[in-house]
Amino acid sequence: MSMSNQGFETLAIHAGQEPDPSTGAVVPPIYATSTYKQDGIGGLRNGYEYSRSGNPTRTALEECLAAVEGGRRGMAFASGLAAEDTVLRTLCRPGSHVVIPNDAYGGTYRLFARVYEEWGVEYTPVPLQDVAAVRAAIRPETVAVWVETPTNPLLNIADIAALAQVAHTAGAKLIVDNTFASSYLQQPLSLGADIVVHSTTKYMGGHSDVVGGALVTADAELGERLAYNQNAMGAVCGPFDAFLTLRGIKTLGVRMDRHCANAERIADLLTRHPKVASVLYPGLPEHPGHEVAAKQMKRFGGMISFRMRSEEEAVRVCEATQLFTLGESLGGVESLIEHPGRMTHASAAGSPLEVPADLVRLSVGIEDVNDLIADLETALD
Ligand SMILES: *Cc1c(COP(=O)(O)O)cnc(C)c1O
Repeated sequence: MSMSNQGFETLAIHAGQEPDPSTGAVVPPIYATSTYKQDGIGGLRNGYEYSRSGNPTRTALEECLAAVEGGRRGMAFASGLAAEDTVLRTLCRPGSHVVIPNDAYGGTYRLFARVYEEWGVEYTPVPLQDVAAVRAAIRPETVAVWVETPTNPLLNIADIAALAQVAHTAGAKLIVDNTFASSYLQQPLSLGADIVVHSTTKYMGGHSDVVGGALVTADAELGERLAYNQNAMGAVCGPFDAFLTLRGIKTLGVRMDRHCANAERIADLLTRHPKVASVLYPGLPEHPGHEVAAKQMKRFGGMISFRMRSEEEAVRVCEATQLFTLGESLGGVESLIEHPGRMTHASAAGSPLEVPADLVRLSVGIEDVNDLIADLETALD
């Protein structure tokens, strides 16, 4: 990564994306090919032999991911959960233990509770904002502390640097799911994390048109072990998806700045609205994680959750907006609204990860903020 002393937006646009040597194409082409002609047996051109093992469009994305995350090795997967699965199968053995957030992304929780538990991997859900609770949950078998910050959908903040120390003291890895913040707002590797995970489906891709995942490591040797399993397990990102994701990352910085600016305005509106009981947004000074967020994030992100005074009211608001589209997922240019209790987190009902029934979650898009505010005001009234 010879360009790693350059600024974020420069890396996002150029890292891994030198003009194509054969044609001069400024944008890395979609290499829709499964195999590559060999110049004699073993005579590979640029190391490519089969597209599960390597594809130039995916390589461009992987180099860009490593650069924007400030890491040594980037890997692109078919989905965020495919990336998570590859990490867990690389680090865990039967009897291993992982500390996870007590409000982890529902799919992450399901992977532990429904898939890995059957293979003898144990996990403990802990409120990660409580560093002492994380330390207390660590066992001799703990191989990793799994961090999300901000969390989904409660927007809790974990102190990455403090948790890296706790994990490393115990000989465990610190894994950070950086999906909510994106590489632009938060750089966990620089705070001591060993592995960064992304659902690139969200802010990194940014246009709600592709599903993908990523891993980035600071350490080349750990990156090599994961990359070996990426190929051995095979859940790679295809070239069309890699193209779309790379195209999204080019504008990550400008998109995130607008997501944050719009979210700040909307959080302010919600805090003053009589029908809203409370607002969960790390940018608000009264948020319990505000100081840690201010220390480790560039800005506070585009996700806001808020509590109405009843489940009925929460459901009503979700169904009343026009511009905020009722839907799952997040991080795209268009604004979305959802009811976590009945939608994204319905499967957490009755588990330690159950969310309040009066909660509404917004993924604030980059439309004109006055239109977004007008839509919410009408829906709330
Ligand atoms: C969506 C999401 C995932 C899973 O990613 P997929 O691309 O849907 O597989 C993981 N973590 C977080 C925080 C997410 O929002």
